[in-house]
Amino acid sequence: MTALDAPALPVIPVMKPWLGEEEAAAAAEAVASGWVAQGPRVRAFEEAFARRVGAAEAVAVSNCTTALHLALHLLGVGPGDDVVVPSFSFIATANAVRHVGAQPVFADVDLVTGNLTPGTVEAALTPRTRAVVVVHQAGVPADTAALGALLEPRGIPVVEDAACAIGSTLFGRPVGAGAQLAAFSFHPRKLVTTGEGGMLVTPSADVAARARRLREHGMSVSAADRHASGSVAPEQYLEPGFNFRMTDVQAAIGLVQLTRLDAMVARRRELAARYRALLADLPGLRLVDDPSWGTTNVQSCWLLLPEDAPVGRDAVLARMSAAGVSGRRGIMAAHLEPAYADRPRVSLPATERLTADSLVLPLFHQMTEGEQDRVVDALRAALVP
Ligand SMILES: *Cc1c(COP(=O)(O)O)cnc(C)c1O
Repeated sequence: MTALDAPALPVIPVMKPWLGEEEAAAAAEAVASGWVAQGPRVRAFEEAFARRVGAAEAVAVSNCTTALHLALHLLGVGPGDDVVVPSFSFIATANAVRHVGAQPVFADVDLVTGNLTPGTVEAALTPRTRAVVVVHQAGVPADTAALGALLEPRGIPVVEDAACAIGSTLFGRPVGAGAQLAAFSFHPRKLVTTGEGGMLVTPSADVAARARRLREHGMSVSAADRHASGSVAPEQYLEPGFNFRMTDVQAAIGLVQLTRLDAMVARRRELAARYRALLADLPGLRLVDDPSWGTTNVQSCWLLLPEDAPVGRDAVLARMSAAGVSGRRGIMAAHLEPAYADRPRVSLPATERLTADSLVLPLFHQMTEGEQDRVVDALRAALVP
């Protein structure tokens, strides 16, 4: 048999959620119960999530974008306000600022971590800065202590976009444990998934109570509680709210997914360490790694090509794709997108270098070492001019 008629090896995806029979059974059970909207499973998921990240309160919502929107709304951010965000993030981070009527001000990031630093944030502060959204990009924890030292004396609150960071740690605790407001995502691109879904965590019982009300149209009593109590007393609508609810079907899946989290993080870190070892001899390549203040869940295993790489990032991806390996461009830069062309033009050198020259390698829980070897071979071949 020649290479031409050899059967093609299956394409290696860049990621794949880890879902099993247990999730299917839990979802079926929720359906069979007849209660599919927000109810007891959402409450149980909130409690399990809060325990897992070491936060006092967790409020389940429809996705991480609505969790960020809610966080900014809870802080009273609105029209006329500026919110500092990294451009180097999925665009939802900046969009959430627009959703409350405020303006994103794009700050640069550190070239190694891909995260905001006190220096990049300070350069983006304006007299109208009402909040900063710090992203734990791709699961790499940002140094929130250093940012707090800059922002607390100025009275500027921090919202943590922890969309990618479930299972990452910061100063020896899970990301979220030390946050005033942190937003998580359960989109299938993240580790723990419920299809769509999000969680807002906070140490404050009052903030959580208001968040629970706001996610459900501002109702004084949740529909589930009213149903459970059999009360006929009409609810009141205490302030204009949103419909940001999660469903019990999603929460049932999330409860199972949470039990897999430790195994997911361990396996991802193992695979990332193996990538690092297998690619160690390639000059100038840099793979995502832990900062000194925490550990990453390796939500996304990105690597940065040298600035003068003879084969550019997009060509590397195309060659890998031809070899049956689907990589992805690295994290986007929101300030370069048409959606934000109306913002003042800023130069963000680290962001622009990272977004141009980084790529994401396939990494998923079920990945075999044989598959990983194929990725490494394809990458090595793709890098040769
Ligand atoms: C995925 C992601 C979001 C959006 O999460 P959704 O749950 O899809 O709304 C926000 N911020 C970052 C950094 C993300 O990676």
